[in-house]
Amino acid sequence: MTNKDVDAVIVGAGFSGLYATHRLRNLQGLSVQCFEAGDGPGGVWYWNRYPGARCDFESIFYSYTFDADLQREWRWTERFAKQSEILAYLQHVADRFDLRRSYRFSTRVTSAVWDDDAQRWEVASDDGSVTTARFFINAAGAFSVFKKNDFPGQEDFHGAVVHTSQWPAEGVDLAGKRVAVIGTGSTGIQVIQTIAEQVAELTVFQRTANFACPLGNRPLTDEDFAQAVADFSRNRQESRNSIAGAPYPRAVRSALMDTPEERRKVYDQYYNGGGFRMLTSSYYDLIFNPVANATAADYIRERIRERVHDPKLAELLCPNDHPYGTKRATFETKYYEAFNLPHVHLVDARTTPIVRITEKGIATTDHEYEFDVIVLATGFDVGAGALARMGVIGRGGRKLTDHWAHGQRAYLGMATHGFPNLFHINGPQSAAALFNNPIAIEDSVDFVGNLIGYLDSHGHTTAEVTDLAEDRYNELVREVADATLFPTATTWYMGDNIPGKPRTPLSLFTGAPMYRAICAEVETTGYAGFSFDGENRPLSSLVKLDGSAVFFLAGLQNMGVKPLEECSLEEARATMESFKMMQLPPPGDVSVVDTQYPIEGGYRTARLYRPSVDGPLPVVVFLHGGGWIGGSLDSFDEPCATLASRTGALVVSPDYRLAPEHPFPAATDDTVAVLRWAADHIAEFGGDPDRMAVGGESAGANLAAVAALRLRDEGGPSLRAQVLVTPPTDFLADTESRKAFAHGPLLSMELAMRMGSQYLGDPANTMSPWASPARASDLSGLPPALVITMEIDPSRDEAEDYASALAAAGVPTVCRRFDGLFHMAFSLSGAIPRAADIQEAIADFLKPLLSTEAATAAAAIR
Ligand code: NAP
Repeated sequence: MTNKDVDAVIVGAGFSGLYATHRLRNLQGLSVQCFEAGDGPGGVWYWNRYPGARCDFESIFYSYTFDADLQREWRWTERFAKQSEILAYLQHVADRFDLRRSYRFSTRVTSAVWDDDAQRWEVASDDGSVTTARFFINAAGAFSVFKKNDFPGQEDFHGAVVHTSQWPAEGVDLAGKRVAVIGTGSTGIQVIQTIAEQVAELTVFQRTANFACPLGNRPLTDEDFAQAVADFSRNRQESRNSIAGAPYPRAVRSALMDTPEERRKVYDQYYNGGGFRMLTSSYYDLIFNPVANATAADYIRERIRERVHDPKLAELLCPNDHPYGTKRATFETKYYEAFNLPHVHLVDARTTPIVRITEKGIATTDHEYEFDVIVLATGFDVGAGALARMGVIGRGGRKLTDHWAHGQRAYLGMATHGFPNLFHINGPQSAAALFNNPIAIEDSVDFVGNLIGYLDSHGHTTAEVTDLAEDRYNELVREVADATLFPTATTWYMGDNIPGKPRTPLSLFTGAPMYRAICAEVETTGYAGFSFDGENRPLSSLVKLDGSAVFFLAGLQNMGVKPLEECSLEEARATMESFKMMQLPPPGDVSVVDTQYPIEGGYRTARLYRPSVDGPLPVVVFLHGGGWIGGSLDSFDEPCATLASRTGALVVSPDYRLAPEHPFPAATDDTVAVLRWAADHIAEFGGDPDRMAVGGESAGANLAAVAALRLRDEGGPSLRAQVLVTPPTDFLADTESRKAFAHGPLLSMELAMRMGSQYLGDPANTMSPWASPARASDLSGLPPALVITMEIDPSRDEAEDYASALAAAGVPTVCRRFDGLFHMAFSLSGAIPRAADIQEAIADFLKPLLSTEAATAAAAIR
């Protein structure tokens, strides 16, 4: 073999490698050299030829979308295609796009070393050649290294031991044999249900029972196919906007919103409906709320018990040690019925673990079983195991295996620090575990292709993720995992199906839309987090955001919640109200009573939150957020109750008038009115009018700041403190944060401007200090202020500027910025655990200022 220099080396000829070859070579005109260990294309579908191997995403979705003609001309025969058909499809793709000529099949890469002087990868292969390349593309897939046999004694066995992913092309004759299957994951289940009727005796060694739901396979009719072709563009788009990368119905309800009877109907529909819908389309909270999850788990167990005749056996087949969906969802066709056959046996390999393979078969801790064939369906060293074995050495002689000693990590699942110009297609920590793979692969390849195009068009030679970006992304992946139930199971998702492998989430568990949004943001910000020829690009907003916030935003996307910018007034109000579902239950030690306060020409409601402590109590009048156009007493129920519980204050939450029905200055007039009412009447409710503070969040914080100014200038009452959580303070501010976070998350400048103009009415009002308190000519003499800001928030800088201006005017001011949080975090306590830290900061600030001692001292000064 001669040595060669190319633009890119691509390893793998599965879905990833074939599309990468097409994209880089055919569409971008790069020279490529591709390697594949198998003797033809197919990747995971080449190797996994075990009986019953088939896809569990519908094939019309589990296929490439980059070429509409390809989609139209390939006629899938079944709803869920079997392995041989998918292999034939990939062979067809290789031929149709003339990809084979770029491959050296039956060839393994033996080392890949980055040459810093030449700025090239030097790739050696077992055919004795060396290929140099600017780019090294890891398209070897996540499932190319099978889990090695855990059990000693294989060499003693008189029969055959075969791992499912090493199934011989010519097959294994199982007819009339005594067969053992070890493992009941996706693979084991497919094998067991397929061979049960063919073999003489089948013994299944099950360590962990799985939640398997019916696959719902059937022949694909001509009508089905015609429909799929007609819907191609819509499916393509919807797939990318859906949680699992397939256009399944969106889950928009919590399992806990429905009665048991309603839930049963929903689960019946999706259990019988086939594929991933049971997990992705039934209820949105199955994957993070253990109580919601238990309803699905109970349902599936009930169905297992109905299907397996022997109650003891049924119980053994019922999973009970992990929540549903935390191990990769599995699908079956008459799997449970197989255990009703007299020659099919189940061994509980958890209570009686396998000790060794013997000459005759398998010895567990209490019995020796005799077999002719042992099938290992024991899984994979998932992730970039294949790459790690290729002897990859990066910049400065750093081994990839050392870099990953504490867990495989890759920025966006695509780039690794210290390994310039090496890109993984859906590598570790991509979203591929929950993202229909062909689509995920196309996106990943397109990202890498665009990045290479950018690099070339900007005259750069190398692209490498920065240390900071890789670290932060790794943290983000962990934080998101912690917002879910995934870490509660032992699974390849968490890397711990392999003994000794560091436990680390191998996937970003947001679903496809958020992962795609992160990648898109990185791309549109000029590849944030990458370093081009040593010049570092800063992190993008979504990567900086706290994982809980990312998970919350991902949930909105997965549900298909319309962005607020696109909502009508009524829709925006309804969406803001719906966020209440994301709050913790209010604390139990606070009693609530509604009363009325007078405004010009009428009355409004004030809701009073009284903690169970002896009074008289200090008073905090707290204004809800909602952009002056939305929000309500109900939507701030929990934040106000928690504030009362934490501060020991009587919290007054006024229902002020909203724009555009009641434009400026109605809301600020109501704020002043409620404060005056409180000064006169709060003693009747156990409050102390001499110890009163005002506060608010977002628009409510703007109203609180304005009220502090107005009370100073309009004769009181006097306030002990003001608490401003993410206050907009100047409608005309021109700040860095407004530019950096112009597109949100959640609060974008477009939305802020729209809500602001609905509130202000006449644009001249922007200049009024009653609208823009930062524009007041004098800020002295105002009550001590706590200004709380969020790092990822367009209003951050104007709020911090206001804090500086208050301090400069002699107002005792504390400014606290919460890193990684976004504008509405304070009122999303159930989704954002750090909302509790904001409450704590408020309590720490207010308690001393509202104490009786402080009031006595203040009276003495007066
Ligand atoms: P897996 O999900 O990791 O399951 C491996 C099974 O082997 C588990 O039941 C495991 O038990 C068992 N096992 C491993 N070591 C064992 C030991 N020492 N003693 C007893 N039992 C042992 O692997 P997989 O089933 O091959 O599936 C891997 C992934 O491939 C899937 O999650 C899926 O992503 C993909 N896949 C997809 C399809 C498809 O339809 N598209 C089909 C097959 C596979 P524990 O659970 O106790 O560890």
